[in-house]
Amino acid sequence: MVNIETELLQPIELGHNPSRKRAEVWIDFDGPVGIVRKRVARVRWNPKNQWNTVDPVYGCVGALTNMDEETGEFYGCPWGCYALFSFKKLKADFSTPVPQIINETVLKDDFRRARKRTRRNWVRNGVIGDPSLSWEATLDLCDIEHRMDLTPVVFTRQWLDPSRSQVKEMVDYDVLLHLSICAMDSDEFLAPREEMVRSFLRHGGRVVLRNVTFHFDDTTDESVGLWEKQDKLMRGEFGMFGDLRPEVLENPARLIRGKKQRNPTWKVLGDWAYFKAPTTKDHKFSRHNHNWTAGVLYDQPACWVGCRQCPVQCLTRDRQMTLVEF
Ligand code: SF4
Repeated sequence: MVNIETELLQPIELGHNPSRKRAEVWIDFDGPVGIVRKRVARVRWNPKNQWNTVDPVYGCVGALTNMDEETGEFYGCPWGCYALFSFKKLKADFSTPVPQIINETVLKDDFRRARKRTRRNWVRNGVIGDPSLSWEATLDLCDIEHRMDLTPVVFTRQWLDPSRSQVKEMVDYDVLLHLSICAMDSDEFLAPREEMVRSFLRHGGRVVLRNVTFHFDDTTDESVGLWEKQDKLMRGEFGMFGDLRPEVLENPARLIRGKKQRNPTWKVLGDWAYFKAPTTKDHKFSRHNHNWTAGVLYDQPACWVGCRQCPVQCLTRDRQMTLVEF
């Protein structure tokens, strides 16, 4: 039985020395591999984000993609999934999605506190899992956020397609949908996502293509093709409906590189263009950081500095108004 009284806004510092002891609260380690517990969804933070994150689902089926053929190890999405990396360290299963319990009373209290703390009018839905793996839980959450005059921002790779009525519902809740895609995604992968973007626009919704960008190797035909595809995605022509086109946000990839880290994506990148990424928490350069990036490559809004100091705020600019307490 979950004691929601004692679970007040406990942070999950997933990317920061995940300790198994601390993780026991939300991962059941009784079996051979840790399994995420089904608990009441709470508003949280992590070292990159502000106190405005909530996960309707923990875990992601993308954990079973992007395999290194030599070792058989999976790296998740082409840029390498940081949550998957943390789960591996914890010896826990990330590939099984576990929808969380949406409790309106608890969440309303959390949102009130989070709003006071962050003075932000938007909520990030999806950090340690993909909301598309339970559109039902995600929509319940967005409904609450919308009624509290918060903009629900949903981060997804869209592993499951929403139905037409679910798209309409999201538009009614003023959801700002952030679809993470990149030039390394196959045409088969992109096709249903393009259809969903179109459907969102057709119903009057707002979509942001969160294009994860790479500096490809310039010396092969394959890489030249990838550059072209990336440029096209950055132009926002993907999923156009008439004159309507999605907004575009560049998300420069931050890839882990280490002796045991062989994300296959490195094979098509121009190594020389990469440098140690600044920290996501405070945008400081540290030689201890194991993330590498080529930085911002396009002259467009980018997800680059840490969330607390970010001027972009996930393109929720129209919601950055002075807050009235309620
Ligand atoms: S756009 Fe800004 S607020 Fe949004 S995730 Fe990126 S750094 Fe954080």
